[in-house]
Amino acid sequence: MAWKTLDDMDLAGKVVLTRVDINVPVDDGAVTDATRITRIKPTVDAIIAAGGTVVLLAHFGRPKGKVVPEMSLEITRQTLVDELGHPVAFATDCVGEVAAEALENLQDGAILLLENTRFHPGEEANDPDFAKQLAALGDIFCNDAFSAAHRAHASTEGIAHLLPSCAGRLMEAELKALDKALSTPDRPVVAVVGGAKVSTKLDLLTNLIEKVDTIVIGGGMANTFLAAQGHDVGKSLCEHDLAETARAVIAKAKDLGCEILLPTDVVVAREFKAGAENEVVPADQCPSDAMILDAGPDAVAAIVERFRKARTLVWNGPLGAFEIAPFNKATDAAAAAAAELSRGGKLISVAGGGDTVAALNGSGAAKDFTYVSTAGGAFLEWMEGKTLPGVAVLTQG
Ligand code: ADP
Ligand code: MG
Repeated sequence: MAWKTLDDMDLAGKVVLTRVDINVPVDDGAVTDATRITRIKPTVDAIIAAGGTVVLLAHFGRPKGKVVPEMSLEITRQTLVDELGHPVAFATDCVGEVAAEALENLQDGAILLLENTRFHPGEEANDPDFAKQLAALGDIFCNDAFSAAHRAHASTEGIAHLLPSCAGRLMEAELKALDKALSTPDRPVVAVVGGAKVSTKLDLLTNLIEKVDTIVIGGGMANTFLAAQGHDVGKSLCEHDLAETARAVIAKAKDLGCEILLPTDVVVAREFKAGAENEVVPADQCPSDAMILDAGPDAVAAIVERFRKARTLVWNGPLGAFEIAPFNKATDAAAAAAAELSRGGKLISVAGGGDTVAALNGSGAAKDFTYVSTAGGAFLEWMEGKTLPGVAVLTQG
């Protein structure tokens, strides 16, 4: 796949409309986690170093096409100044005279932050007229918001048809890592698919079966697969109505030569609370009054063995109810093994998903993974093999 990057563009003297994801968490009028802001710094620096002017386009919250003062992007301005190290001016509208005037008055080397694109209904509707108004402000479009690329909105998709467009540094890194992991991977490839429910991960499983050599199934999902094989899973989280679907997944995997690895032993408890009394039992012997909350030590050993033989790992979904100790054990042990192999250069490891990232950050394994995607929904859609409109438009022409 070929997409243009900032290196392919002549940025000197140009106004670069830069779509970023600065939808940061806030509390009591202050930004509580600046991660998303610090991650756009390489793009901002590259544009400024090349003599371009950075105009930031972004959404914030879900104002649904209306001006909602509590969802003004102005709240991020000071954090942008602190983290990016440049003066930041703010325009109270992202289009029209207000925006044009703010751009005109912008001092040299300063960044212009435009108000929440979602204050206009044309943003989410991908209205061509609204896209035109956005495009009128600049010379080049740079998309650095991979996490918003699964949505065809005016500031992620429409505008790219109207201006010379490229990927920013963060988008580039994300695309490279994901492309390497799934499109042109070093084999064998192992996928871990865990989390709560099969129903939310069916498209993911269906796509991965065709692409990877082994799928490790964990978490609540594994319970559905165990039940589908006739095992009692007691009071476990389980989608009994998906038994047929689970059997079909296994049959298809067999046809395609993809190994499906289910836990051979599990950790069961009677209560879903921290420190609950628990025991390890074979996966086909869950007591009828207990629930499976984690994979057992034999299961972890089998998973780690697959990791050792693999060259590439893609991971979405924890292996157990990791939020509640000690049911984080299997997730943490497998993540630690993947981290160690990655650190030693033996494994390319890519992980993503809200809870997955939280689990990997919590155990400290994240920093040794080759790439941890914070893109949430966009990461999942990529893993499902879907075309992301915001990416597709960058690869045309
Ligand atoms: P992600 O956000 O990374 O895509 P999911 O949302 O699919 O992951 O799944 C994470 C959730 O699955 C967590 O809240 C975790 O507690 C839950 N979970 C995992 N295993 C079990 C289990 N055996 N029983 C109940 N919940 C589980
Ligand atoms: Mg989740």
